Amino acid sequence: MARQPQKLLTPGPTSVPPEVLRALAEPVLHHRSPDFAEVFTLAQERLREVFRTEREVLVLTSSGTGAFESAIVNLVSPGERVLAVSHGEFGERWQKMAAALGCDVAPLRYDWGGTPSPDDLRAALAETGASTVFLVHSETSTGVVSDLEPLLGVCAELNVLSIVDAVSSLGAVPLETDAWGADVVVTASQKALMTPPGLAFVAVSERAWERSATSTMPRFYWDWERQRRAQATGSTPFTPATSTVVALVEALGLVLGDGLEAAFARHRALGRACRAGVKAIGLELYSPDSDTAAVLTGALTPEGVDAVALRLALRDRHAITIAGGHGELVSRLFRIGHIGYVTIEDVAQTLTAIETELVEAGAALEIGRGAAAGLVAYGAATAV
Ligand SMILES: *Cc1c(COP(=O)(O)O)cnc(C)c1O
Repeated sequence: MARQPQKLLTPGPTSVPPEVLRALAEPVLHHRSPDFAEVFTLAQERLREVFRTEREVLVLTSSGTGAFESAIVNLVSPGERVLAVSHGEFGERWQKMAAALGCDVAPLRYDWGGTPSPDDLRAALAETGASTVFLVHSETSTGVVSDLEPLLGVCAELNVLSIVDAVSSLGAVPLETDAWGADVVVTASQKALMTPPGLAFVAVSERAWERSATSTMPRFYWDWERQRRAQATGSTPFTPATSTVVALVEALGLVLGDGLEAAFARHRALGRACRAGVKAIGLELYSPDSDTAAVLTGALTPEGVDAVALRLALRDRHAITIAGGHGELVSRLFRIGHIGYVTIEDVAQTLTAIETELVEAGAALEIGRGAAAGLVAYGAATAV
């Protein structure tokens, strides 16, 4: 039986534009060829624009998690104290990873759904004397997008190296790598950058390069210095996902063609539309009811309606994939991603599908309110 193509309204992987899919179908390039060097150099140039940086952006064949591990093993020495800020699943992942790699992990923990504050960060850094801090820009498990600039300001003030998880934020919401003074920014191909999974990117500051020269964590595949030397010649130390690099160049061309500001405005408008729709359906929001929540919208099903069953019904009957929840919220929480190649029509269709399945599950509501409210909110947000 042929598989029905799914619309991916998840916070990754996301659907990609047809131009990007076509690029994937090009003949495979050899990574030691001039043809690849040309494409790879262009990919790096475009990545620098998206990161808003003048620095080297390393291109790793990996998921985002691998790229985050590369940051730890290049910057930290065994037993070194790191401060890992957590307010959801990904912050907790980096705490576990650093502990597994032999770091002395000092956690700054918030409840899931919390938002880190500069004052808490300053106090935790003073108390722990950590050399390095991990920050999650967009905490994809909850929909919270941190106000990163003042957090990075605290790191600069206390001369602490920052590693920022921007996996679900880069390209969706503003992030000024250089202007905000982030040392290391990590992202991956499969979220707002409209490219299939397989590549991850790391922007590295001069200060971070200096630290990497003296850090003693063992590394080989993840060795940034080896990667930098190869990138300078238009190649990589090991075989990269060459076809995904070709697709990336196409996708970043689309993003930059309209301009990053347009991308941020679109994500903000989609966030507004999705929240308006969810509220019009009468559901409780889980993600913040604010324009910061431009990456995804989390909501709770009505009492007695199983969110897992809702998600599967959307997948099987509407060909729409959304994301689920975690822990004790697994039976109530669902998350609609609206990053990357997502249109207001996709969001409206998703809202209507949700209403249809809620009615099917016994909820009393009027189908069509969600999409109508979403379209109106989007229209107001994009009116010139
Ligand atoms: C998706 C995501 C990651 C990385 O996940 P991978 O599956 O390893 O690519 C990391 N952090 C955040 C916030 C994410 O949303």
